[in-house]
Amino acid sequence: MALTGMQIYKLLPKTNCKDCGLPTCMAFAMQVAAKQKALTDCPHVSEESKEELSEASSPPMRLVKIGPEGKQFEIGQETVMFRHEEKFHRPCGIAVRIPSSLSDEEALAKSEKINKSVFERVGQTLKVQLCAVEIDGAADPAGRAKLVAEKSEVPLILMGKNADAMKKAAEAIKDLRPLVGGADASNIDGFIDIAASLKLPVAISGKNLEELADLTSKAKEKGIEDIILSFNTENLGDTLRWLTLARRAALRKNFRALGYPALVEVTTKDAEEETVVASAYAAKYAGIVIIDNVEPWELLPIMVVVQNVYTDPQVPNTVEAKLYEVGNPDENSPVMFTTNFSLTYFSVESEVERSKVPAYICVVETEGLGVLNAYAGDKISAEKVVKTLNEQKVAEKVKHRKLIIPGLLPIFRAEIEDTSDWKEVIIGPETAREIPAFLTNNWKS
Ligand code: SF4
Repeated sequence: MALTGMQIYKLLPKTNCKDCGLPTCMAFAMQVAAKQKALTDCPHVSEESKEELSEASSPPMRLVKIGPEGKQFEIGQETVMFRHEEKFHRPCGIAVRIPSSLSDEEALAKSEKINKSVFERVGQTLKVQLCAVEIDGAADPAGRAKLVAEKSEVPLILMGKNADAMKKAAEAIKDLRPLVGGADASNIDGFIDIAASLKLPVAISGKNLEELADLTSKAKEKGIEDIILSFNTENLGDTLRWLTLARRAALRKNFRALGYPALVEVTTKDAEEETVVASAYAAKYAGIVIIDNVEPWELLPIMVVVQNVYTDPQVPNTVEAKLYEVGNPDENSPVMFTTNFSLTYFSVESEVERSKVPAYICVVETEGLGVLNAYAGDKISAEKVVKTLNEQKVAEKVKHRKLIIPGLLPIFRAEIEDTSDWKEVIIGPETAREIPAFLTNNWKS
């Protein structure tokens, strides 16, 4: 049964030394009770306390780390079924497969493409997190693993069913701590040997959840802790059901045999279908999805789903409320304002960039609300806009006194003109995408 924060606190050293990264032992105890910290995060807890607490206090889903120190991909330790209950903690990682059928040159070229698949969206960097190297069918398993490892800038997954070939590949790059994927009922002993002898995480699949739970229990009995549940995609509905049932068993029933993050290997040959299917798994509840394609149009939809699902619903996405310069604006450049909701700001910023008209964007603090919501919630007013313009010293940047305001707030025009030096308030477009045409056709300093 889960322990309360107070029960855990009683067994801690109570020195408030902060070595766990939290200000007090009580704060640490509350986080352990909430399954957000593991007891081992306190370096001073006694062996007796550890024994007493470890089973009851460990998170219901294990945290698994793939890759070498410094560039590890972490997955797991989730605590809720639904995002609105709290938040999801570790975003699903996209892994791109390097088939064994590729020549060495083709494998290197694909690995290079994976390294370069990095995108910026609303202030965040989105990228492919893992490279999945197919070992079955490779003439030289160790050579193929080493070849890709030398080029890859992301952690590796080794994929195959042949335990002998997988062992050669895993031994060749064991210092990079790859995930060893492909264990099932037919080869579990060989994979347990690889994971145990090389201390690597292992992905295990079963023909149903009962068999999967038996196999993970067997691995755990042999001392293997870092396990990932592996599913394939022969049937979308079944796989989604298994992902959901496994997560529910772990989080709601504290069923340890399924208390691990999940991986789904997408196997469809159709690129569009692959993108759609991978997005569905990323939303519910895969920790890793393995796909084939690496073109931006295929990756970006999945990345955007992951970005949205893993946004903390309790924390508004904001940018700093300050004066931003887009391009190289000068004293004749346009001035506009918007709110500090990051999606609003980055939409405006990217459209100003697209217009090729350098401009100043004054961002008003609205507690992360977009324009209309901020107005409806009384988080923005003409008075607040004027105050922000003054605080950001915008008038010192330009010699004109023209201010472009969002088309959704025409009501601010008269008050800004009456109460500030900004004597020519221009009502701008209602949507960001109209900004380029608006600036090109209307802006004259
Ligand atoms: Fe308390 Fe341990 Fe954290 Fe120190 S490291 S504050 S003893 S819980």
